Amino acid sequence: MVSERMKGLGTARSVIRELFEYGKLRAAEVGPENVFDFSIGNPSVPAPGAVNETAIRLLTEQPDLIHAYTSAQGDAAARQRFAASLNRRFGTGYTPERLYVTSGAAGALCCVFNGLSCPGDEFIVFAPYFPEYKVFIEGAGAKMTLIPPEIEGFQIDFDAFERSVSEHTKGVVINSPNNPSGVVYSRATLERLAAVLAEKSAAYGHPIYLISDEPYREIVYAGVEAPWVPHLYRDTIVCYSFSKSLSLPGERIGYVLVPEDVTDAGDVYAAVAGAGRSLGYVNAPSLFQQVTSICCDMTADLKIYEENAKLFVSALREMGYHVVEPGGAFYLFPRSLEPDDVAFSERAKKLDLLIVPGSGFGAPGHVRVSYCVQTETIRRALPKFKALAESYQ
Ligand code: PLP
Repeated sequence: MVSERMKGLGTARSVIRELFEYGKLRAAEVGPENVFDFSIGNPSVPAPGAVNETAIRLLTEQPDLIHAYTSAQGDAAARQRFAASLNRRFGTGYTPERLYVTSGAAGALCCVFNGLSCPGDEFIVFAPYFPEYKVFIEGAGAKMTLIPPEIEGFQIDFDAFERSVSEHTKGVVINSPNNPSGVVYSRATLERLAAVLAEKSAAYGHPIYLISDEPYREIVYAGVEAPWVPHLYRDTIVCYSFSKSLSLPGERIGYVLVPEDVTDAGDVYAAVAGAGRSLGYVNAPSLFQQVTSICCDMTADLKIYEENAKLFVSALREMGYHVVEPGGAFYLFPRSLEPDDVAFSERAKKLDLLIVPGSGFGAPGHVRVSYCVQTETIRRALPKFKALAESYQ
């Protein structure tokens, strides 16, 4: 006997993984240059040179230390550097005692959901959303409540949101810049969200935490503002990752930040640390705790994503696709050319164009296109997108 839930999670591949695996098989058949894989969000630019240099230097200078266990919550010097970097950038006064280093944003989110969840708790998520949230929230024994997408701009449908907040709401999750829409929440959206949360927290007599999942925080395009969320809402817990900003998804480093102003910050931090312990998520990879904290003021060369976005959006619009302008990250979320996004994605697949149906992100009628690829790949894929559009005329 095994856990049916876990067995299900372990055997059913996500749609994204399914397409990605299909792409590899198909590439072996027809050649990789003939398969246009826009399915997965693996950064396409290398990590900055300083990342490798720092890793090599640390391995050479401190070979014993670097392979040793760190404190469960992360090495103190590394946390100090992360806190100092945030303080420099956002004018804050964070301390290393409120940072918990994790294996990526995934580890950070799991620690937060597990740390906060009490029986009967719910977390609100806005569509379109990163599908693993449901797995993580349910894994913590809580319920996910999904708010339908506001498809004109992928901001927030506040009427639907306000109707869904209840005394059971423990937290609300936001992800801006967003996977899969690429949209950045405006200051007005965040201010309105903060006002609703403050009002509802007062009405229900307990804090509603805002969990800001920010792996794309640094990938924001010219002229787009991405406010520092804790400045706008006091009870914000930040989940961060170096997977995208430093192009290090395989190194698995991120953190949870519980700012001191958060209600019961000491208890929340202790519960995050306890969740890390209970899940076995202590001591994130030691070498890369050091490397990312030494390099945390840098980013990979991210400008290609903006160039790709411009090229893709204007070309797709010319072909008749409806696309909401992305403000960051590296995803587009155009409308599918028929209501059934799965059928649309299947039709694209026949043209060796791999794009992910939006239903899995809670937004049917759309598809996700990851443009963290070489610009040349996009250029060569455009005739396929055109053929796809023409097949509907
Ligand atoms: N949150 C969002 C919105 C993501 O897109 C991802 C990864 O793609 C994650 C969390 C998980 O990131 P990590 O690789 O740091 O665990």
